[in-house]
Amino acid sequence: MTNQQYNPPSESTSNALDQGAVLNLLLHNTDESFILLNTQLEIIVANREARERSIRLLNKDMTPGRSIFDFAAPDRIEMLKSLYVKILAGEQFETVINIPGENGKLFFYTNFMRPARSTNGNIEGVIITSRDITKEVEAQREKDRSLMVGQIFSTGKSLSKNLYELLAYLCTEFKKDAAEIWVTSIDEKCLHLSSRFQCLDESEKNKRIAFKINEGLPGTAWYQRKALHIPQLEHSNLFLRKEFAQINHFQSADAIPLFDDDRIQGVIVFFSKTEGNHPMQPDWNKNPEGALPAMATYLSPVLLEHIATEINRKIAEERLNKFFDLSPDVLSIAGVDGYFKKLNPSFPAILGYSMEEMLQNPYYHFIHPDDLLATSVLVEEFAGGLKASYFENRFRHADGSYRWFAWTSTSLEEEGLIFGVAKDVTQKKSQEEALQHLNQQLVKRALELANSNADLEKFAYVASHDLQEPLRMVSSFLQLLEKKYENNIDDTGKQYIRFAVDGAERMKKLILDLLEYSRVGTKPTELKSVTLADIVEDVVSQYHLLVEETKATIDASALKNLPPIMGNPFLLKQLFHNLVGNAIKYRSKEPPVIKISCSEDEDSFVFCISDNGIGIDPRFAEKVFVIFQRLHNSSAYKGTGIGLAIAKKIVEKHGGKIWVEPNPPQGSSFFFSISKYLHQNLPT
Ligand code: ADP
Repeated sequence: MTNQQYNPPSESTSNALDQGAVLNLLLHNTDESFILLNTQLEIIVANREARERSIRLLNKDMTPGRSIFDFAAPDRIEMLKSLYVKILAGEQFETVINIPGENGKLFFYTNFMRPARSTNGNIEGVIITSRDITKEVEAQREKDRSLMVGQIFSTGKSLSKNLYELLAYLCTEFKKDAAEIWVTSIDEKCLHLSSRFQCLDESEKNKRIAFKINEGLPGTAWYQRKALHIPQLEHSNLFLRKEFAQINHFQSADAIPLFDDDRIQGVIVFFSKTEGNHPMQPDWNKNPEGALPAMATYLSPVLLEHIATEINRKIAEERLNKFFDLSPDVLSIAGVDGYFKKLNPSFPAILGYSMEEMLQNPYYHFIHPDDLLATSVLVEEFAGGLKASYFENRFRHADGSYRWFAWTSTSLEEEGLIFGVAKDVTQKKSQEEALQHLNQQLVKRALELANSNADLEKFAYVASHDLQEPLRMVSSFLQLLEKKYENNIDDTGKQYIRFAVDGAERMKKLILDLLEYSRVGTKPTELKSVTLADIVEDVVSQYHLLVEETKATIDASALKNLPPIMGNPFLLKQLFHNLVGNAIKYRSKEPPVIKISCSEDEDSFVFCISDNGIGIDPRFAEKVFVIFQRLHNSSAYKGTGIGLAIAKKIVEKHGGKIWVEPNPPQGSSFFFSISKYLHQNLPT
């Protein structure tokens, strides 16, 4: 601190003005108003600002001598009187007052009222200084309105509720009787009535719910891209809804477009039950230099743009939410803090929880213990900047079971959010597991079967091969016995020996057939291009004696045009041999008529050997292919019951099937197929 004192300017520096003149200059050249009253509360002096303001606002001049109460609103006089009593007793006050000016504009002032003391401390009157704070009040009000609009749109309610609340607020704030808001349609072709406040509906036939561009009041405000003021609705050509105005007693209206950047988001229409004398939003462009009208009565472009942006945001949010709510897949926004922030209804529905349960508990609470580590590592990676990921994890259902979800996720690192889309793949997973299990079992079973088949074949081969020797011994010694003791044995004995020889013969045939059967698996399996017509010709010639004897006819002409097919010639010959042989063997009283034909489908050639023999009861159609299964005893037809089992084995090795059908009117047809896609060797 210095000890410097305030020194009034000297005569020479004050341009020869005396102290009275300096004070006068100060008094009249300030923006604050200054009034000095005597103890009778009469004006002693009022500065220029005070007098000009009084003339401007009240049309009265504050000439010295006039009572201060001449300038007060009648309803405030009593209150002011008691205030002045207190001031004259030494108290001081600060008040804020507002005074309506032209066009209803409100002006705000802070008044400081304190006692005027002489140098000896006596109270000689009252000093009133007053500052115009209209601009500050307006700025604050603008801020409050903006805050309010923000609040209305952040409640989480629907757009239509938000719009209704907005209209209610604006009507109260701007002292309007009613309002409606028309929002631009998605294709920008018309304006839709989105909300109404304090409006009775017009009759159904006159009801308007949309306006095209340049149609009616909202459409024209949209087209002209500016606010329109209709002072008398009744006489306006622009305002079409006369019935609506009439039943609501609306006399004037303002249509105000809402700009979001350059696009018009909608139009608000305000209604008054009195004739309108000034527009709610003036034509700003007409007088850009001029003073802005008071905020109290005019909607500022900044506030309007704020409203438009909020509506736009809310519409976008609602449209997005529709998809969000519709999706049968799971949609989630999760925080890296361990909590879900937003979920679509599918997620809790799939898991059997309420939305609240899922939002209030950390998501780790629902995850399968075995998937916790992997999931939390991933969340950390997202927090650390990982952009996208595909992963699967299990969530616990309310009933205690677990559901698999396949997630595609991406992150918004700055906000610590993970956006995820997931499919419930529980069913797929359990099917996969079941299939895998089945496959394992099949492989095991196939291996077991292959082993046991191989063992069986080996056994059949060894048994039939080794049995031949003792059998030969039995038959030759039986023959020797018969020769040597021919004379000593009676007829019954001879008959027994013949039975025994016969039995040994049949056993020999059985063993040979069994050997043949077991050899199908061990014979060479290489594939060749085979001309079946040649093979069948060979087979038929093998049977020529039997054919002659039985007067059989065998027609294989259909095979003539058949191109060579892939197969094993040795096995195919045996196949035809067995089937043709049976067709002759199981003949009826008629001479056998055998026909061999062929057809083809997409995957295979299908052959048919039909006969006119004794036929097969369809009930035994499957049984005849089983080894040792015969439909006749050996006295009726000789045989071992192995021929068709061999045929089946050969066909299966060629990737085909064999079956038998009745051949009307008489006999049977044996069908078998050979795959067209055989390559390399046949399976052994
Ligand atoms: P086998 O002829 O040695 O008895 P197969 O395995 O060749 O053995 O035939 C099994 C049974 O199928 C035969 O016993 C017979 O009853 C029946 N069968 C086979 N082919 C025919 C056919 N073409 N007509 C009628 N029955 C047949």
